[in-house]
Amino acid sequence: MVSEMPYCYRCGKEIEANVKFCWNCGVQLKPLEAPAPLLPHAGVPRISIRPSGVTILAVLYWLSAIVAILGGLAYVAGVSYFVPLAFLTLLWIMGAVLIAIGVLDILIGWGLWSLRKWARTVAIVLAVVGLISFPIGTVISIITLWYLFKPEVKACFA
Ligand SMILES: [Zn+2]
Repeated sequence: MVSEMPYCYRCGKEIEANVKFCWNCGVQLKPLEAPAPLLPHAGVPRISIRPSGVTILAVLYWLSAIVAILGGLAYVAGVSYFVPLAFLTLLWIMGAVLIAIGVLDILIGWGLWSLRKWARTVAIVLAVVGLISFPIGTVISIITLWYLFKPEVKACFA
């Protein structure tokens, strides 16, 4: 069996097949170590798959944000000049609070959408608070809590 004598890619001299460096010019011919196997997710942004229930929850937050902001704007803009000043101020404050709640709902919806840990925590706290709004709020809150505490759903939030 004739062993092939390869040539150095740099200087062109004949070299032995298994040497790591060229005897003539010293260029490295073979990697010194096998490259580390690529671990899944190593150095690569983790691609999380959002469970559909979380998507629905995020969309519900955005819908409630729209309702709150529109309601708030209606309070602020729809004020009649015939109402007493104290009442007018009260309506403005209520409108501002509703708009602020709407903005927070947008942020929470975004947090859920992008699977932020804090968003799950906030959603759990709000669901516990929402338990008191019997009957519809109670039902929605129970479903939300049951869902957010599912281990496979919890694991999606990083
Ligand atoms: Zn060489």
